[in-house]
Amino acid sequence: MTRATWLRIHRVLGLAMAAFLLVQALTGALLLYRGPVARMIDPSGMTTQATGPACSAGRAVGQASHALPGYHVTRLFAPDAEDATWFAQLSDDSGRTRYASIDPAGGRVLRAGSLAPSAELLAGLPNLEILFSIGAGIDQFDMSALPPHVRVVRMIEPGIAAGMVEYVTMAVLALHRNLIDYREAQKDARWAPIKLKPAGERRVGIMGLGNLGQAVLKALTPFAFALSGWSRSPRDIEGVTCHAGEAALPDFLATCDILICLLPLTDETRGILCRNSLSQLPGGAALINAGRGGHLVEQDLLSLLDERHLSGAFLDVTDPEPLPASHPFWAHPRIVITPHIASMTRADSAARALIANIRRHEAGEPMDGEVARNRGY
Ligand code: NAP
Repeated sequence: MTRATWLRIHRVLGLAMAAFLLVQALTGALLLYRGPVARMIDPSGMTTQATGPACSAGRAVGQASHALPGYHVTRLFAPDAEDATWFAQLSDDSGRTRYASIDPAGGRVLRAGSLAPSAELLAGLPNLEILFSIGAGIDQFDMSALPPHVRVVRMIEPGIAAGMVEYVTMAVLALHRNLIDYREAQKDARWAPIKLKPAGERRVGIMGLGNLGQAVLKALTPFAFALSGWSRSPRDIEGVTCHAGEAALPDFLATCDILICLLPLTDETRGILCRNSLSQLPGGAALINAGRGGHLVEQDLLSLLDERHLSGAFLDVTDPEPLPASHPFWAHPRIVITPHIASMTRADSAARALIANIRRHEAGEPMDGEVARNRGY
């Protein structure tokens, strides 16, 4: 090979390397550009989303916009960055809004789950096809205020189920191992051991055998509790005694030493945890409510605790939220209150779930978590 040929090869290789580096730099720049997209979205004057949880939500919305070519996030709305409340709107290339997503926490921030503040927003979205809840529940929506053609989809994503599994397992084990009694004894510096009850002798029942109820049952299985469940339609779950329908409720309740509520809030389930139902639990039973505050008749719980028919309660949800400082639940020695934190939607996995559902819809396939609007869940 001549020196001239070597020089030519050297030059070609050099150019190829330069081209490679240039492509790398441009791709890097594009990737860098992709990151802050959510921050560049017009937040419609409500707030900015540069820091805190809203920022990660913003990133997730940015991801959603990128993963769906032809769509853009046209608005991102976070009234309270601390609460990570966010609303995203996806529009197509013609600027028509076809999909919107709303966080149930938004309902809470805007007070009492009313859709009223969003009605004007919806009025401005005549092409809206689907409303995605960013949470597992949809009771924050006033269905009657939604045009009948708008489909409603609740959030099914692994982050919500993982959080609920942790919370309910924590509460079941705390109740099973008499933590409320030991908390009381500690206040008085009392050393008061209670005889251990084997898990196999403790009966744990779940109202609501949907996405979350079943995830919790799976997590509780290795502890060997006697497990049962109650739902609207019959279910068959290995290792779980399943009951269905209103007529089966008394039999179910009679076998729950620890009752867990993981129902959606509907016209049928509002106030379901009342004196009538809770007094059908065995004496000394305990309650975990991680469904909605509206499921519980508060005064009935207080009376049954004070009468010692019930031994304790873990309440993650209340009505209203936040629970007023003067509420008797705060000071009750046998109630543990948590501020609706059993589970939280994870922005990254929720964005992926949202994208997957839009793709299903575009392909004419059923979406995961579509709500039967007449049934309310
Ligand atoms: P899901 O998959 O829709 O399951 C709902 C279950 O409830 C189903 O088994 C359903 O029966 C049953 N059910 C509904 N109405 C009933 C009735 N009238 N009588 C008997 N059973 C009835 O819901 P999910 O995803 O598991 O979520 C459940 C609820 O958890 C949400 O709606 C929300 O209120 C609450 N949640 C709370 C938090 C928190 O942080 N505290 C977080 C997420 C969710 P079928 O099986 O027959 O349909």
